[in-house]
Amino acid sequence: MTSALRTLVDTALDPGAAPEDIAAAPLPEHIRAAVVRKSEENMFAGLSSAEKDPRKSLRVDEVEAPPLGPTEVLIAPMAAALNFNTVWTSIFEPVSTFRFLERFGKESDLGRRHDLPYHIVGSDAAGVVVRTGPGVTRWKPGDRVTVHCNYVDMEGPEGHDDSMIDASQRIWGFETNFGAMAELAMVKANQLMPMPTHLTWEEAASLSLTLATSYRMLVSPNAAGMKQGDIVLVWGATGGLGGYAVQLVRNGGGIPVCVVSSGDKADLLASLGVERIIDRKAEGFEFWDGDEQQPSEWRRFGKRIRELTGGVDVDIVFEHPGRQTFGASVFVAKRGGTIVTCASTSGYLHEYDNRYLWMNLKRIVSSHFANYKEAWEANRLVDLGMIHPILTRTYALEEAAEGAWAMHTNAHTGKLGVLVNARAEGEGVADPDKRASLAHHIEAWKRLT
Ligand code: NAP
Repeated sequence: MTSALRTLVDTALDPGAAPEDIAAAPLPEHIRAAVVRKSEENMFAGLSSAEKDPRKSLRVDEVEAPPLGPTEVLIAPMAAALNFNTVWTSIFEPVSTFRFLERFGKESDLGRRHDLPYHIVGSDAAGVVVRTGPGVTRWKPGDRVTVHCNYVDMEGPEGHDDSMIDASQRIWGFETNFGAMAELAMVKANQLMPMPTHLTWEEAASLSLTLATSYRMLVSPNAAGMKQGDIVLVWGATGGLGGYAVQLVRNGGGIPVCVVSSGDKADLLASLGVERIIDRKAEGFEFWDGDEQQPSEWRRFGKRIRELTGGVDVDIVFEHPGRQTFGASVFVAKRGGTIVTCASTSGYLHEYDNRYLWMNLKRIVSSHFANYKEAWEANRLVDLGMIHPILTRTYALEEAAEGAWAMHTNAHTGKLGVLVNARAEGEGVADPDKRASLAHHIEAWKRLT
């Protein structure tokens, strides 16, 4: 970190500093950032997905500080978090994210700034505002914020019921440049939310992308619209999405049936009071035999779920593994039930038996991140102490690629944080008393690394 940046960050965090003092502190011309390089986008040609190693493509480099335009804000991320989209960016799958940046570059002058030979990654941050652009009135330098990743202009009419429908909607740090894993990051003002006062920087950074995605999938009328008493099958129940999904189901009066792949993960959920858990590895569920689906395994899985639910089928299936599980997910949903999907980690060409869908009046609902209101409501639940971060491990910025490798190989649990401008883990708590009353919820996840 340069001394100019340290002065800027220290001034921005000083509770006695006025917004004008922070705005007057000079910006550095260059920053450190975790990037992939366009010149290397073909480096994994011919390798299988599993062989593509983010540790070879994702590096920390010195790059120019981000620009600042109308309705935009520069923040100093104190911490960021890893998401699966950084795995996709760093293995250049299913497409190189430089295609997104090029397309953005052709749209407008402001878009052209994003089309660079490097891509600064990261779609989750907690940090402090250091500059606001023209037209920003709700936020000021010195505000401590979490950032959600819905980057949208809203100039056209399409998104005004739901900004996720807007044609200009992008995921920040994935379909845009200037993401979270950098000493300075550029966001739109309508991505900012107040940082929950009892959390550390790295805990606050580990919330938004997966929490708000899970919130929309389950709680919002834009997707499954869960109600009290609903039984919800949660795949990957200790992963980034699933760890929040389980909490949202329980907080909303639903009953989660959780699928995980190890005894340690099952024990973690049991220690949190979850009662219905399936260890898919220990119980040997194999829904595919080579290229053939195994309906007998769907039936065995459905029977196992009924054993846990007192004989009834699930109202909602929380789907994201994709190809490996989708056939089973459609099969086990109850008559009239909902399969809500936001991803295809194991492959996006899904196969299912459509007879089980139409004859039983089930519906498949798609979902993708969240609009500002949904992200705000999810963030608010954390500030209220009703939903808790699921951070298990935090890396230094230079080690971000190690975290991406852990995610790629499914060797992680919960969320993985990345320290950016914070000097150490544990900083940033504004309300220690509130934290003390909620710490046992947060610490439970840290036992499993
Ligand atoms: P994660 O932290 O890696 O968790 C995913 C979990 O899924 C894993 O912990 C694993 O749990 C389970 N899983 C993985 N492969 C599986 C398989 N073949 N069969 C059954 N379970 C499997 O990732 P995440 O952050 O939750 O994200 C999951 C997916 O959603 C990614 O593809 C990501 O890109 C996508 N996503 C989409 C959005 C959106 O807005 N559309 C937002 C966030 C994430 P067990 O091994 O314990 O079963």
